[in-house]
Amino acid sequence: GKKDFDVIIVGAGPAGLAAGYVLAKAGVDTIIIERGKFPGAKNVMGGILYRKPMDDLIPEFYKEAPLERHIIEQRMWLLDEAAHFGSGIRNQKWNQEPYNCFSVFRAHFDKWFSKQVVDAGALLINETVVTEPIVENGKVVGVRTDRPEGDLYADCVIAADGVQSFLAKSLGLRKKITPEKVAVATKEIIGLSEKEVNDRFGVTNPDEGVTIELTGPFFEGIEAMAWIYTNKTSVSIGVGAIIKDLIEHRMNPNDLLEKVKAHPSVLPLIEGGETKEYLAHMIPEGGYFAVPKLYTDGFMVAGDAAMLVDSVHREGSNLAIESGKAAAKTYLEAKEAGDFSEKMLSRYQDKLEEMYVLKDLKYYRNLPELLEEKRYLLTDYPQFIIDAMTEIYNVDGTPKPDKFRKIKDELKQRFGYINLAKDLYTIWRKLR
Ligand code: FAD
Repeated sequence: GKKDFDVIIVGAGPAGLAAGYVLAKAGVDTIIIERGKFPGAKNVMGGILYRKPMDDLIPEFYKEAPLERHIIEQRMWLLDEAAHFGSGIRNQKWNQEPYNCFSVFRAHFDKWFSKQVVDAGALLINETVVTEPIVENGKVVGVRTDRPEGDLYADCVIAADGVQSFLAKSLGLRKKITPEKVAVATKEIIGLSEKEVNDRFGVTNPDEGVTIELTGPFFEGIEAMAWIYTNKTSVSIGVGAIIKDLIEHRMNPNDLLEKVKAHPSVLPLIEGGETKEYLAHMIPEGGYFAVPKLYTDGFMVAGDAAMLVDSVHREGSNLAIESGKAAAKTYLEAKEAGDFSEKMLSRYQDKLEEMYVLKDLKYYRNLPELLEEKRYLLTDYPQFIIDAMTEIYNVDGTPKPDKFRKIKDELKQRFGYINLAKDLYTIWRKLR
């Protein structure tokens, strides 16, 4: 058949670039097609980039790549209207090389990453849209683009075209995404001086960063998670919420973000800063059961296109990188065998099942359903914790034994011991 390249990769996000890097390094003739002006131009994430998958690909990349701050402290806040109950971990080990994770701007990072991929030997074509897969005898043999004479042929196509993955949909691998399986996230970048960021988040060095994840009854039963991440001279603040919930609560994502920004625990962190950028993007949060079959003849799907996001741990870019690498390695095996059939490429999905990529998603597989059924896990229990902590810290003349009895009575009254035991049992049973 016709052949212009060994492999065509659609999309130059972390998934496509990771695949492209592995292939180019192995001497495979690879083209990456990206619709944006340059990689990262329109890509959005919170964004925390994890070191490990990237470091395995390009050792000590963090010495060269445009990163904001390495994260030394990660906080978790449960919010109600007036309070936050916080936990978190700060660890000096994260303040030393090789570090754990970094805040990044995708526009800078992806552009840098793409340069490494091009230097390794891949061809990158920007401002080009892949409009459809070319299928012959039930096999994917190439893609059609919006360029004149823009049909391209290859042994294999890797779709790394993001959450909407038009390619996976048109091949029937993915169904239309439904509003309970996708979150919409809005994010604002708020400019502050380096010193303001350092002082407000309790770090002394402009390379040290802090993350805060926020959830709780403040969101009134909307399944939502907000975040605040420190950059060098700004903070990123955003909130993602399941689209179905926003519709049901008639809440608009921008209003939800304004509500978070006005919270009394949040406002002092961002006050006086000026808005630099406002972004919005979708996040595939359907979990394990939403992950489709990831291959067919001559075709593999990676990253968000494959719905590989662990929303509990805000991991997406790392799963994109891992899956891109796994797809590339599978191609190399297929090339060795001279066989790009569905059966051969099924090894790709096997690889992901054996890695933390699908193991993690599998572990949380029942979570979307659990939260759909027992939404009060996100509201009533966190509210109880906030109230109990407030009670304990309020010095109001009540003897401590009376306070503890009151908290116990509240627990019984709000939930009932039997329901509490049932909920604990359900959580234990569903998360294993
Ligand atoms: P993308 O980064 O979406 O890249 C897909 C690329 O394909 C795009 O560049 C697009 O332009 C291109 N493309 C699409 N269709 C076509 C076409 N037809 N032709 C040509 N090109 C096409 N993950 C984390 O690890 N940490 C975080 O803190 C984090 N925070 C997030 C916050 C927000 C608000 C959002 C939305 C996501 C967040 N994620 C985070 C998830 C993370 O951003 C994604 O999982 C990751 O970007 C997926 O990478 P990808 O390469 O699969 O897709």
